[in-house]
Amino acid sequence: MSRARDPDVSRPVAPRGPVSRRDVLKLAGAGLAAGAAAGGAEPAPPRRPGRSVVVAGGGIGGLTCAWELVKRGHDVTVLEAAGRTGGHVRTVRDPLADGLYVDGGAEHFTRPGYELFWGHVKELGLTALPYPRRENILRRIDGRLFTEEMLADPAVLAGFGFNRREVDFLAREPWWKLPALYFAPYLDSFSDEYRPFDAGLDRLDEMTLTELLRQDGASAAAVRFIGDAQSSALHAVWHAALLKLRGVPLFPPEVFRLAGGNQTLTDALTARLGDRVRLGCPVTGIERGETGVRVRYREAGQEKTREADWLVSAMSLVKLREVPVTPPWPEARGQVVKGFPYYTASRPVFQSRTRFWETDGVSPNIVLGETALEHVWRMADEVPTGRGLLVGTAAGFTSAEEALAAFRRVYPGRGEDVEQAFVVDWARDPWAMACEPVNYGPGRLRRFWPLVIEPEGRIQFVGAYADNLNWGMEAATRSAHRVAEAIDRA
Ligand SMILES: Cc1cc2nc3c(=O)[nH]c(=O)nc-3n(C[C@H](O)[C@H](O)[C@H](O)COP(=O)(O)OP(=O)(O)OC[C@H]3O[C@@H](n4cnc5c(N)ncnc54)[C@H](O)[C@@H]3O)c2cc1C
Repeated sequence: MSRARDPDVSRPVAPRGPVSRRDVLKLAGAGLAAGAAAGGAEPAPPRRPGRSVVVAGGGIGGLTCAWELVKRGHDVTVLEAAGRTGGHVRTVRDPLADGLYVDGGAEHFTRPGYELFWGHVKELGLTALPYPRRENILRRIDGRLFTEEMLADPAVLAGFGFNRREVDFLAREPWWKLPALYFAPYLDSFSDEYRPFDAGLDRLDEMTLTELLRQDGASAAAVRFIGDAQSSALHAVWHAALLKLRGVPLFPPEVFRLAGGNQTLTDALTARLGDRVRLGCPVTGIERGETGVRVRYREAGQEKTREADWLVSAMSLVKLREVPVTPPWPEARGQVVKGFPYYTASRPVFQSRTRFWETDGVSPNIVLGETALEHVWRMADEVPTGRGLLVGTAAGFTSAEEALAAFRRVYPGRGEDVEQAFVVDWARDPWAMACEPVNYGPGRLRRFWPLVIEPEGRIQFVGAYADNLNWGMEAATRSAHRVAEAIDRA
């Protein structure tokens, strides 16, 4: 157990000042109160008590942190506002036929990458399946669909307006690698993936990625396809550098999902945590103390409070913004909580009578580039049925009709036989509306980093936003382990 690393393990700290009820409880937990009650009998050697921890939010981040704390001997309660755990990890079965299912939120993970997540897959006895959603991608550009082979053809590339260097690069490398051509000169300046300012590239935080590309000779076509006029160039380059440090491609072509849906992982964690998880319990207020926290929450219509040594905030910052905090957050923290950028999205789902794309000989993995349907791919192939299932990503508030109309406009085959369409719309979810963070705008990195991963007194932060790379489940899992370790060592 990591507690053994703590030099204070056998030396309980005497409380200073008046002893509160909580302190008495802590002492009782340490076995000291029992010794005192025995009237001067030699107390048993004190055991360092586990810390009491409230985890606010039962998404993958909160559940993983709770489970890691329980394994280290701490007393954990998870307060989850919704009637289910998992947050953005949500597998939908109803109203699909024949045992088909779809991941309505987080749908893939990579290898390499997601190492801690893979550790839980193994620990919980779950099965990862290869997920061929990035094979043979068709891309719609200027109203036409292009295969991967077409997008490696120098004549096609020159027709888009790429310059000579870019054409040569794309003729030998896959389309998704193009950013690497411009990031390469900067990547080796980063040696610690958590210290972006050590790279000596702060000037890149004063420009957008689009400006950096232009400065470094990118064509208008490259700017069009890989530019970003909102994101800090330093943030984009730092992300690429930390992927290189981890040995992960910029856009891993091989990805995985869990058999039965990714929610099998959060369900398994929930089962292990048992009655430590309280559903339908939104946190409604936080009081920050020197040595602990008091958390207000609602349960079955009643206002309740709970005191703890630590609070782990495992809800998105968009939801944390709504929770009153006393005393108020210090100014810098307040800026992080209020100003952190997120996106939201929806997941269109199409169930078809047959796997018509197979009959048509058309790849179902299509990048459409429309707000009503950004891209689409096939899912749940292993389910024994002749029916087909396609899923996609679209902007928040997209309707099923809009998404299906976009698909029908673009799909090039003749056999399309979608029989049912619906949308999982995160923008309408009262508790899990904000999906993942997006890159910071210029000048924001210093304001947000590293504060966003640091504790504020007795409050720790876990979630997809609380790590260096904004890859949802991976960031949530990494932050969960970091915080469990920090509380255990404190
Ligand atoms: C459409 C879509 C596709 C995605 N694809 C991928 C993917 O392929 N791979 C990947 O790794 N990630 C993906 N993600 C991102 C990933 O799902 C999330 O980043 C990750 O699940 C977030 O986990 P979390 O624990 O940080 O937060 P959440 O999932 O938001 O969990 C927070 C929890 O806090 C609860 N909560 C909120 N307010 C309160 C309150 N006041 N009191 C108590 N509880 C509260 C919520 O109900 C929720 O359960 C995707 C997300 C979406 C929406």
